Amino acid sequence: MGRMRTPLALIDVTAGTVRTARLEEAQFPVEDLAIHRGEGIFETVLVSVDRTAPADGTDSSDGTHDAVAPGTPRTRIHSEEPHFERFRASAAMLELPDPPRALFDEAVAAVIAEVVAASDDSLTEFSVRYALSRGLDAHADAAAHQAAGTPAGARGWAFPISVTPAQAAQRTEGVRVITLDRGYDAYLGERAPWLLIGAKTLSYAVNQAAARHAKAQGADEALFVSRDGLVLEGPTANLVIRRGDELLTPDPRAGLLHGTTQRAAFAGAEAAGLTARYGDLTVEDVVAADGAWLLSSTRTAVPLLSLDGKDLAVDAELTEQLHAWIRAA
Ligand code: PLP
Repeated sequence: MGRMRTPLALIDVTAGTVRTARLEEAQFPVEDLAIHRGEGIFETVLVSVDRTAPADGTDSSDGTHDAVAPGTPRTRIHSEEPHFERFRASAAMLELPDPPRALFDEAVAAVIAEVVAASDDSLTEFSVRYALSRGLDAHADAAAHQAAGTPAGARGWAFPISVTPAQAAQRTEGVRVITLDRGYDAYLGERAPWLLIGAKTLSYAVNQAAARHAKAQGADEALFVSRDGLVLEGPTANLVIRRGDELLTPDPRAGLLHGTTQRAAFAGAEAAGLTARYGDLTVEDVVAADGAWLLSSTRTAVPLLSLDGKDLAVDAELTEQLHAWIRAA
């Protein structure tokens, strides 16, 4: 995807339209609330490209989209429904308009079709990020924007992101992780809904800073811990551990994003006869686990090699199974 001109799909929620543009030439009003307030939401979905079974001309990945040209590689959006459901839940938490499904489907499909059409055989996967902003700040001259053809209300967009070789390598090579204080007690979100804990908002500056801080300490990744000592999540991924025949992950209500990848992994694990459950976990629980992973849409499952310098048990077999369960969703 690197050298080609990259597609961008722009959604005008009020007008109910989708138009395609180029990411390199994106026009985004400086007065949009997403830019100055981080007031918007997003999702990042992983798309697999299957060249072994090209489309027969009747449908696309799930049969719900338009007919595709025979010979086009089939694509699959992993955990498509859980992602959109979470997108809608995030919108509700921010009191944004309910994102119109048809427009987002059209935008994401347009991006996928362009990426696949421009790709060679080496492209087997990429991600698509889609987002929704409240639109222009109240002090903006909405009429002037509209006269210039810029939507004044809520706007959405979708664009592709490549899976980097470094991200793909982490799936088997693993990461060294350090814990970082999240600064709030577990379960605070239940008492303080305005903190938007559990919504996937565009305000990721803290998450980015935590990732940089971890790297500055010589680690690959951070793991947030609540003030009262429960492990929460990474800046862009959920934690799952194995303890015997059981998979465990922190309860989303403790103050973290409920992951679509973690849910896919749990569904696969349960189908395979393992127990999978939510619970309160401490740093000691992670260190004593029979395996620990960070799960997220693009990187799928990444084994933890160490936590705060302590070596962790690495379960390569379960890593492979997690990859398969996640790809099946
Ligand atoms: N937690 C945070 C803070 C995230 O940003 C993400 C995803 O980007 C996740 C968890 C994992 O969510 P998912 O598996 O749905 O990608």
